[in-house]
Amino acid sequence: MKITDIKKYLTATGELQKELFAESVRVRKETIGEDVHFRGIIEFSNYCEKNCLYCGIRCGNEKAERYRMTKEEIKICLAFIDRVKYGSVVLQSGELTSTKDKRFLLEIVQFIHNNYPHLGITLSCGELDFEFLKELYGAGAHRYLLRIETSVPSLYKKIHPEHHSLEKRIETLNDLKKINYQVGCGNMIGVPEQTIDNLISDLNFFQEMDFDMFGLGPYVIHEDTPMGNFENKKSWEENKEQIFQTTLNFIAMLRILLPSCNIAAATALDVFKPNGRIQALKAGANIIMPSVTPQIYRGKYLLYQNKPCIDEHAEDCSACTIRQVNAAKLNPVLGTPGNSLHYKQRNI
Ligand code: SAH
Ligand code: SF4
Repeated sequence: MKITDIKKYLTATGELQKELFAESVRVRKETIGEDVHFRGIIEFSNYCEKNCLYCGIRCGNEKAERYRMTKEEIKICLAFIDRVKYGSVVLQSGELTSTKDKRFLLEIVQFIHNNYPHLGITLSCGELDFEFLKELYGAGAHRYLLRIETSVPSLYKKIHPEHHSLEKRIETLNDLKKINYQVGCGNMIGVPEQTIDNLISDLNFFQEMDFDMFGLGPYVIHEDTPMGNFENKKSWEENKEQIFQTTLNFIAMLRILLPSCNIAAATALDVFKPNGRIQALKAGANIIMPSVTPQIYRGKYLLYQNKPCIDEHAEDCSACTIRQVNAAKLNPVLGTPGNSLHYKQRNI
């Protein structure tokens, strides 16, 4: 596709946007079908060693109340996931690299693999070292989600402290591929000063790296972060609709450019519209990740503000998402892990 066309579609509104979504849905139907797969997400700790300038659980945010779930609490979540037949679990946390934290994560993965061998296991725990990632893979983790946030070095620098490195992030993504994980990436859409050309660079990066899964979403302001200042908040509020629509257009473009990938409908879209994630499914996404995090912790895992469903329990989220997917005339599929077709194809 020509750059001018990509630009046109990323900014599409009205009839052109309808055309774009019709094409992305057609491509999805032709390659992976209309099935929507579920991943129950457990946000098991909000401690983080990093200090990303946009994130509410960055180590520098002293207002964040920290927690670590116990093994017993995680086991209860897993039993729930098994009972409602989500088919896959995502373990997400801040970036933790101490020996104790690594051992804890490894033991959880071992527990899942031994007790629920039919469950897909996705990790989303930041930039871990090669040897440890290999150990986790050996223990049964087989998918990893690590967003690049932005592929543009100058923008990456603006939204991260000095010592965070885009090269290191790319190196970890390459490590994950070497180990043979199903690798997921993504970006944040709508960060201050991001341009459409920046988003085109992200699309190019995703194609070049040939990822299997995507978990991209809109940037949402958090007041207790360096990027959540008054000026940024004002312009974020003014641009909300555009950020939402651009995210949907980006998802549709990804589906067209990388048809056999799994694409998640980000929870952050529900900050913008009550049915934000469903709109993402209608634009070409095929994965939904209902929260299984215990209600007592939900209000503490605030990467961004106005996070939806913090007063709900896992049971409510399950009933609600399945109802919403049905109402959108898509096909919710329970009880299977829903691996990425793209991954299968590149491993033939
Ligand atoms: N610590 C791990 C995983 C948890 S953070 C990691 O960083 O990879 C998961 C994702 O949350 C990040 O990749 C980032 O894209 C997203 N995120 C953080 N702060 C956000 C914000 N203010 N708005 C939208 N997404 C945010
Ligand atoms: Fe930590 Fe991830 Fe937030 Fe960065 S985005 S501060 S690594 S939790």
